[in-house]
Amino acid sequence: MAERIRVVVVGACGSMGRETVKAVCQAGDLELVGAVNRSHAGQDIGQVAGPGPLGILVSPDLEGTLEAAKPQVMVDFTEPEGIMSRIQTAILHGVRPVVGTTGISQAEVEDLRALCRKYRLGAVVAPNFAIGALLMMRFAAEAARFFMDAEIIEMHHPRKLDSPSGTAIKTAEMIQASRARSGSGQSVLHRSGAVEKLQGARGGEMGGIHIHSVRLPGLVAHQEVLFGNPSETLTIRHDSLSRESFMPGVLLAIRKVMELSDLVYGLESLVFGAHS
Ligand code: NAD
Repeated sequence: MAERIRVVVVGACGSMGRETVKAVCQAGDLELVGAVNRSHAGQDIGQVAGPGPLGILVSPDLEGTLEAAKPQVMVDFTEPEGIMSRIQTAILHGVRPVVGTTGISQAEVEDLRALCRKYRLGAVVAPNFAIGALLMMRFAAEAARFFMDAEIIEMHHPRKLDSPSGTAIKTAEMIQASRARSGSGQSVLHRSGAVEKLQGARGGEMGGIHIHSVRLPGLVAHQEVLFGNPSETLTIRHDSLSRESFMPGVLLAIRKVMELSDLVYGLESLVFGAHS
């Protein structure tokens, strides 16, 4: 039988971390070897996450866990603060990062890419692991060739720290790239003279695309991309109804990162192929 891929989960006691622990434990080709979290120290991660006792105790010490557990892959679902140092620590220990934590800037991704190249180590940084969300972004990029204007409404649970979401930013980037490739423009006429009476009412703006962030109890992760042309609109919507929706993408990234020797940003090329 082939060796199982050794995985450590950072942020293991959070919503995404617990779901990842369960998914890794259920996957026959993966082995959970460590759980890092700044709370729940000393507790059995199997009991915290649900599958029952695993004999793996939660530690707040990332470096110590990497040295003791010798994982091949580190999955991180924590928070933006200190994320760069956690990823760098993994790479310097020869551990391949799979990062779902959002709020990492494009410049930071490029710094990480340089580090991965230096150590010839694979990494995946993905603002959204849900396959349906990847399709939503892909369809939005396609629609951008035919519609003059677009706005994005992203909706999340109120504990989400960063706004707008990484997915909304990536969607706006893909719409801009699609417009640049196809030479399609956007209308500016309706913007002349517009007045924002309440600051922020029009949301944030990236290259002419307005992004609105909603935070409400009851929500998980949802996004609408609205396109408008004279006399017609098109709405593309994706809903993650539970955190389970992210797990097929997380497991795919853990398996694929073992074959990479560079950083991959976004899951698209791993799901749809290199020329997606
Ligand atoms: P959460 O608050 O439920 O969990 C975060 C966990 O990380 C907590 O248990 C916290 O104690 C722990 N933590 C924070 N900083 C830490 C540190 N420095 N060291 C060790 N542990 C630390 O949050 P969540 O809903 O699980 O989301 C986590 C991240 O994943 C967020 O950035 C969120 O935006 C992102 N996210 C990404 C995707 C995706 O598909 N890429 C999907 C959902 C959420």
